[in-house]
Amino acid sequence: MAQIGFIGLGNMGGPMAANLVKGGHHVRVFDLAEAALEAATAAGCEVAESAAAAAQGAEFVITMLPADKHVQAVYLGDQGLVQQLTAGTLAIDCSTVSAATARQVHEAFAARGIDFIDAPVSGGVGGAQAGTLTFICGGDAAAVERAHVVLEHMGKNIFHAGAAGAGQIAKICNNMLLSVLMVGTSEALQLGIAHGLDAKVLSDIMAKSSGSNWTLDVYNPCPGVMTNAPASRNYEGGFLVDLMSKDLGLAQQAALASGAVTPMGALTHNLYRSWSVLGHGRKDFSSIFNLLEAKQK
Ligand code: NAD
Repeated sequence: MAQIGFIGLGNMGGPMAANLVKGGHHVRVFDLAEAALEAATAAGCEVAESAAAAAQGAEFVITMLPADKHVQAVYLGDQGLVQQLTAGTLAIDCSTVSAATARQVHEAFAARGIDFIDAPVSGGVGGAQAGTLTFICGGDAAAVERAHVVLEHMGKNIFHAGAAGAGQIAKICNNMLLSVLMVGTSEALQLGIAHGLDAKVLSDIMAKSSGSNWTLDVYNPCPGVMTNAPASRNYEGGFLVDLMSKDLGLAQQAALASGAVTPMGALTHNLYRSWSVLGHGRKDFSSIFNLLEAKQK
């Protein structure tokens, strides 16, 4: 049984911490939201009064925070965890943030001789609840290996993408590709529908042809084609447009920083930002299908 400090108990972090308790670990938690702390108490976690108190004496510290500024606030500066932790601790940041922030935190930890890895996840809230997330890690191989003992209670797949920040880069590469597949699939389906084709029949044809991809296999964006997909429940309960938009923004930042050429990623970033501005930020990202609907002349 390990002593774990867990900070950030939102839609993802709450169920992840609960799965660590189920795995037999002692989990001391902190979040700014009272409701999140109440849910964590019910799940068997011990509540601490601050991030530093949650992390004190822990073998592993895990963070699952919204964005760069939250990760910087928790880890860096005079009051940050980097000043509180000691060399025996391994800090694991599972938030999706820029690779630049991940490297900045890595460097601050390395300067104090403490292990830190970036370990963003794929799999969404359903994966967090079921303990089937995919962890995409960046950092020292030995530190990633050491993290397995806790990550395996929250996920099914653990990858080591490379050095510090590589986990974040691999994660946004995947999400950029996913957004391109989703927009392309939506566009093709809408073209067929505009010509009177049945969306289910067209989906079956493309899924068995060269246009086959993950969205056609398990996440069809057209309502009614797949009963289990968010499209068939008014695009509720999936991966939010706003989160996809955030990840695509990180991908564009990374492209600019490296000189990588990402025209499709830039286009899908703008499509998702526009869809959010039009009021669909809290819908599942497959709702982009509706932006591409044919208008009758
Ligand atoms: P969320 O907004 O539900 O939860 C974030 C939690 O962090 C909140 O409870 C908030 O109170 C807490 N928090 C913020 N600042 C804090 C601080 N200084 N100290 C302590 N707690 C603090 O977000 P989420 O959906 O759980 O996502 C978390 C991360 O996981 C994000 O980076 C997101 O991009 C990523 N992610 C989300 C999903 C998804 O489907 N929701 C999937 C993959 C990755």
